Amino acid sequence: ACLQPCRLQHCGQGHGRPGRFLVSRLFQPANLWEDRELGVEGRQGELTCRSQRLMLRAGLIHPASPGCYYYLPHTLRAVEKLVRVIDQEMRAIGGQKLNMPSLCAADLWKRSERWDLMGKELFRLRDRHNGEYCLGPTHEEAVTELIASLGSLSYRQLPLMLYQITRKFRDEPKPRFGLLRGREFYMKDMYTFDVSEEAARQTYDTVCQAYCHLFERLGLSFVKVRADTGSIGGKLSHEFQLPADIGEDRLLICANCSFSANVETVQAGEADCPECHGKLTETKGIEVGHTFYLGTKYSSIFSASYNTPQNKPAVTEMGCFGLGVTRILAASIEVLSTEDSIRWPGLLAPYQVCILPPKKGSKEEEAAGLVDALYDGLGEAVPALRGEVLLDDRTQLTIGKRLKDASRLGYPYVIVAGRRILEDQPHFEVCCQNTGETVFLTREGVFDFL
Ligand code: ATP
Ligand code: MG
Ligand code: MG
Ligand code: MG
Repeated sequence: ACLQPCRLQHCGQGHGRPGRFLVSRLFQPANLWEDRELGVEGRQGELTCRSQRLMLRAGLIHPASPGCYYYLPHTLRAVEKLVRVIDQEMRAIGGQKLNMPSLCAADLWKRSERWDLMGKELFRLRDRHNGEYCLGPTHEEAVTELIASLGSLSYRQLPLMLYQITRKFRDEPKPRFGLLRGREFYMKDMYTFDVSEEAARQTYDTVCQAYCHLFERLGLSFVKVRADTGSIGGKLSHEFQLPADIGEDRLLICANCSFSANVETVQAGEADCPECHGKLTETKGIEVGHTFYLGTKYSSIFSASYNTPQNKPAVTEMGCFGLGVTRILAASIEVLSTEDSIRWPGLLAPYQVCILPPKKGSKEEEAAGLVDALYDGLGEAVPALRGEVLLDDRTQLTIGKRLKDASRLGYPYVIVAGRRILEDQPHFEVCCQNTGETVFLTREGVFDFL
């Protein structure tokens, strides 16, 4: 079946064409749900939630220190896919991507008075000259200083929407729930600059709509709730929440109208909807995004200004918009998976298809060539699947065992060469994991179907 020698000089096992993704070669240290206690779990103490347990067991993450994880290859593939989807949404509304330093000078944080306000959550350090720094937990100061230091913008450049997707650092009092609450995690943070409050509120709505669109594309049910502005400050704020039992936020949702809010914002003792006096019900949620209309809180401190049409300097109106990238990934596993099988938003699954060739020594083995041809043909016939197809070449294992592993890892499509591969008109069995449906298809049928 080896059509071309493997390019790995030292491999010598005839792994087939270079560029094939073989399950036997995956770096996935947890070794797929062996029924033994996993060392990593022991060291973590009690496991705290479904996504953390599933991700550790499946070899998707590995603990490093409290709140810090190795993101193993499957996870990184999913994170990169999520980044691409976020980039599409941000670019669609005019966002421009940049990168700011994670090492942030204390001076900026002192000017905004958040050096003290942030307390122990800020990771602080000193350089060899004794200069004070922190590891960026968010970047309002840095981006505002960037704009200010470049001199006045022209009103023609506004709205300006800058964003980055970088690691953020927060010394959380209770890092837990795996990637849901880390001390080092990926966040998308966008900062917007506008000419007036009215324009800034329009920009605010535009970004919120992009967030709604993103969560809809991911197939996640979410609620947008009114929220507290916390230490970031500002005048108006919403959170995007995924309802889940494990959620650390309490949300109040009106049964009658569209009102919904984080408990933190709502006046103590308020039992009725402040808008329609309907009954409020409480659910728990995972905060996956947070938007703020900031006004001139930062732009006035740092003098981030623009030139009006009359060529007069004026202070910009700002907004900031966070998305927890690694939290969204873990939260979607949390809400979509069963107790022992991972389910991903289709767009984020690390591989879209996993193909299972027949077991060694089985009757079906004579059709192994058909499976190879299917694997090699898929990428050409369905360009969207290029680089997205895994071959579970562990043919010493039964189909049943490999099918179970594939189901637990949640690849959206698993293709099996079962008994019907030996028919005059060979059929593959295609299991659609997200719907639970199974169909029998010829090779061309598979291409059309996918
Ligand atoms: P939380 O209330 O959960 O502590 P936050 O309100 O402090 O979050 P923001 O400052 O609003 O967080 O940051 C923007 C987004 O970054 C959050 O909506 C969340 O999705 C994500 N995020 C915040 N803290 C963490 C963390 N420790 N680990 C992973 N993601 C996080
Ligand atoms: Mg926090
Ligand atoms: Mg919060
Ligand atoms: Mg928040």
